[in-house]
Amino acid sequence: MTPRQRNTDAQQPRGLVILGATGSIGSSTLDVVARHPRRYRPHALTAHTSAQRLLELCERHRPAHAVLSGSAPDAGLRRRFADAGCELRFGPAALEELAAHADCDAVMAAIVGAAGLPATLAAARAGKRVLLANKEALVMAGPLFMRAARDARAVLLPIDSEHNAVFQCMPQDGAGAGVRRIQLTASGGPFRATAVERLADVTPDQACAHPNWVMGRKISVDSATMMNKGLEVIEAHWLFGLPAERIGVLIHPQSVVHSLVEYLDGSVIAQLSNPDMRVPIAHALGFPERIESGARTLDLGAIGHLSFEAPDAARFPCLGLAYGALRAGGTAPAILNAANEIAVEAFLAGRLRFTGIAPVIEDTVARVAPAAADSLEHVMDADARARRAAAACVARLMGRAA
Ligand code: NAD
Ligand code: MG
Repeated sequence: MTPRQRNTDAQQPRGLVILGATGSIGSSTLDVVARHPRRYRPHALTAHTSAQRLLELCERHRPAHAVLSGSAPDAGLRRRFADAGCELRFGPAALEELAAHADCDAVMAAIVGAAGLPATLAAARAGKRVLLANKEALVMAGPLFMRAARDARAVLLPIDSEHNAVFQCMPQDGAGAGVRRIQLTASGGPFRATAVERLADVTPDQACAHPNWVMGRKISVDSATMMNKGLEVIEAHWLFGLPAERIGVLIHPQSVVHSLVEYLDGSVIAQLSNPDMRVPIAHALGFPERIESGARTLDLGAIGHLSFEAPDAARFPCLGLAYGALRAGGTAPAILNAANEIAVEAFLAGRLRFTGIAPVIEDTVARVAPAAADSLEHVMDADARARRAAAACVARLMGRAA
């Protein structure tokens, strides 16, 4: 990844499109952007269905456009947004149009899940500065996405705290010379120390109660299963061009060291901060300059000690499944991701036990054959087949439990 600065004039605010503005990353982004009105002006904010929350954000941040991607056209709603000086559009096609719009310099890709892929890819194809939170886009379509970004000379800046940390610790020539491997840290989630036999009965609210981060429900469950780290290993493979065996995972319950880069000479460089997503967001928004994020300064004296341990493969089977998909290549990561989305959705809806998530993914990966991930159609086809297989597996498990 070789980031390139597009616009160094801090007096000319850049137009920013925030895909997924009503979510956790969206809110943190608006918080940072509001601190830097001379650098960024929100050009468009999007949400799936939360119209009221989106309207409040538009009244406060005054973007020119807003999108409700999951709602049918509604003239009354359109009028209320117009009163806030904002043109409201409906449906997913508007996401792609705005992400590639000429008045947009940068796109915060913060839609959750596979649904974020088309608009994130559109931003890359249009050569934007892409602030990538939507890791699922890269997991599903890594080769396509990286090629599109390279061809259009888009600037990819990782928002995931681990990848942002690695990016900060990598040699800045972009070639990665002298790097032995990277280590992604993981908190281990809320069940790091829970007795394995009790995991079958944990509830969605318990799974979403992350010890260090407040995040959307899907990524919170992914953190509890450690599939989040598995997806991040695949994301790191594409962002930094490293093979699976040079990407390690290290449990670090305090979430202060966000990742580490090991060099050939034995040096290890890490990035540290309080666990606050405004830190990587501000880094990517300001890059290559440093700007205020609003996060508290790290006080290591008060924290006292930091601890690390190797992940337990038996407790976190999803991590091994993700490494397997990365090694299998092609559409295997898209199949893994789709199966995970179906399983997590079923768990959050009370239709699947927490301990059913990994078996649904394993069963789906075994049934759906991967192919080359050389077009968006192939990726979306693999995604659809995996969703059907995973849904059938959830239904079988439910039938057995009844
Ligand atoms: P969230 O659930 O809080 O918000 C998701 C946003 O996406 C909302 O604005 C929602 O309206 C929109 N959305 C949901 N479904 C959609 C659909 N089908 N089409 C279009 N828009 C849709 O999620 P989040 O925690 O902010 O995570 C967003 C992304 O960032 C995820 O890919 C996640 O993995 C990644 N991420 C999040 C964090 C974090 O701290 N929250 C950290 C690292 C990476
Ligand atoms: Mg992360």
